Amino acid sequence: MSEEAKETGKHFVRQIIEEDLASGKHTQIVTRFPPEPNGYLHIGHAKAICVDFGLAAEVGGTCHLRFDDTNPVKEDVEYVESIKADIRWLGFDWGEHLYQASDYFDQLHAWAVELIERGLAYVCSLDTEAFKEYRGLPTVAGKESPSRNRPVEENLDLFQRMKDGDFADGTYVLRAKIDMASPNLHLRDPVIYRIKHAEHHNTGTQWCIYPMYDFTHPLSDAIEHITHSLCTLEFEVHRPLYEWFISKVRTPSTPRQIEFARLHLTYTVMSKRLLLQMVEEKLVNGWDDPRMPTLCGMRRRGYPPAALRKFCETVGLTKFNSLTDMSLLEFHIREVLNQGAARVMGVLDPLRVVITNYPEGEEESFPAANHPGDEGAGTREVPFSRELYIEREDFMEEPPKKFFRLSPGREVRLRAACYITCDEVIKDEAGEVVELRCSWDPASRGGGTPDGRKVKSTLHWVSAAHALDAEVRVYDRLFTVEQPTGDKEKDFKEFLNPDSLRTIQAKVEPGLAGAAVGTTVQFERLGYFCVDSDSTPGRLVFNRTVTLRDTWARLQGK
Ligand code: ATP
Ligand code: MG
Repeated sequence: MSEEAKETGKHFVRQIIEEDLASGKHTQIVTRFPPEPNGYLHIGHAKAICVDFGLAAEVGGTCHLRFDDTNPVKEDVEYVESIKADIRWLGFDWGEHLYQASDYFDQLHAWAVELIERGLAYVCSLDTEAFKEYRGLPTVAGKESPSRNRPVEENLDLFQRMKDGDFADGTYVLRAKIDMASPNLHLRDPVIYRIKHAEHHNTGTQWCIYPMYDFTHPLSDAIEHITHSLCTLEFEVHRPLYEWFISKVRTPSTPRQIEFARLHLTYTVMSKRLLLQMVEEKLVNGWDDPRMPTLCGMRRRGYPPAALRKFCETVGLTKFNSLTDMSLLEFHIREVLNQGAARVMGVLDPLRVVITNYPEGEEESFPAANHPGDEGAGTREVPFSRELYIEREDFMEEPPKKFFRLSPGREVRLRAACYITCDEVIKDEAGEVVELRCSWDPASRGGGTPDGRKVKSTLHWVSAAHALDAEVRVYDRLFTVEQPTGDKEKDFKEFLNPDSLRTIQAKVEPGLAGAAVGTTVQFERLGYFCVDSDSTPGRLVFNRTVTLRDTWARLQGK
């Protein structure tokens, strides 16, 4: 078992798997991750991926990637490729075990015929409305369809003609013959095949009937010798049906379905349907917009995959639904980035500082540590000259008591450089501070003085002549409320945060020139920032990955 797993203890699925190995019920564990290629993966899927791939890997088993491609209308190869890329990025690999439900269309069809032959399935001609009415309610038994006792021969003939394309969409369905009085609606003669004259991204126009998920899924699991079929809680009520199909046809193995609670995260939505809506209505800039809870969005934002795995492990598996705080995810992002990200300086809201006693035209540089906790990360030279930029909010003309940063007459340290004192404040006609005249103490080169005098704060800065212009995209929560879909009266989009993206023109240290897309650094004192794919050779674009501290909770008064 991985160290990670040991730390957080055993959840119930891990226990079941270990027991099945100990008792000899299974010698080899096989799980699967079964995405429907109808959208991009999100952080909820990451939980399922970490469980499916992670658990299998822990016990030396395998995990299959199987595309659940039973609905030709909504699915697309674009999604197939993005799903594969996202799983790899998360750090998992299906090896040679890449499958799709459509690989089994012939076998599934043969099993459907077998069910008909055994009197366990029939072709039904109720229209949608009648179908619903006959189905009944949870408290009211359903009624049997007039087609229910159609002779086997006739069923076989009709099913063949459904397959041959003789009928229009919706005219007939193939149903399993189970129990119209069952308290579980899923057992009231569920549909197993429907007619859909649509081209499929894998099978083209070969089929015009497509198997339903509830029929396809258990049987695909059985074909692949899946031992533990892990899924989310909403499938708990489908489990009797899962077991019914496996018991009624001669499958090569008997997989077991186990359900766990979905991940729900605050301040976002996760349903692919809603995410698609935001993309289509251009409320965000595509699936990989760094505000999206999609894996491609998180990757672009600079979230490290190790942090996502750690987060999923911490959340664990339970049997009840709950809401996980976005702050927990951000905590893990910070943990991982704190260790790995190099420190650099960038000024988001530049205020000019002129060092009046520093000779014009001269410059020097100071070595700055790339990582405070890791000497091995080395140092870099940061250029210094007469004109600098500091963060506007690090200066106050009339500082309140607890403000220790720069103000008139006060001395502060510039990170890795020297001490400066503010002598004069220059304002424009509107009274806004546009420049500070400061003096430096040349004896403080490197950040201390021979007399050992102390200063109360250290500021980040860049040399004006050397700094690079950069665009910085500062993100905030995508929604203003914890549960955007939690209001019955209002559409989730009404809760979109209008300030979720702010674009800033910043100044960053010159060493960042040419930084590769995806590089994540810490701008000292500000947060973690990742080079965005919109960067061009002459101009860097950064995404703010996460702040250094959880300011949101503080602002919310938590
Ligand atoms: P959505 O409702 O977001 O569209 P889905 O369940 O339809 O998701 P699938 O592609 O069918 O998406 O899901 C693939 C796997 O991921 C399934 O096993 C599903 O249970 C799991 N999964 C989806 N969303 C979550 C979630 N929020 N938490 C944990 N697992 C999830
Ligand atoms: Mg689905």
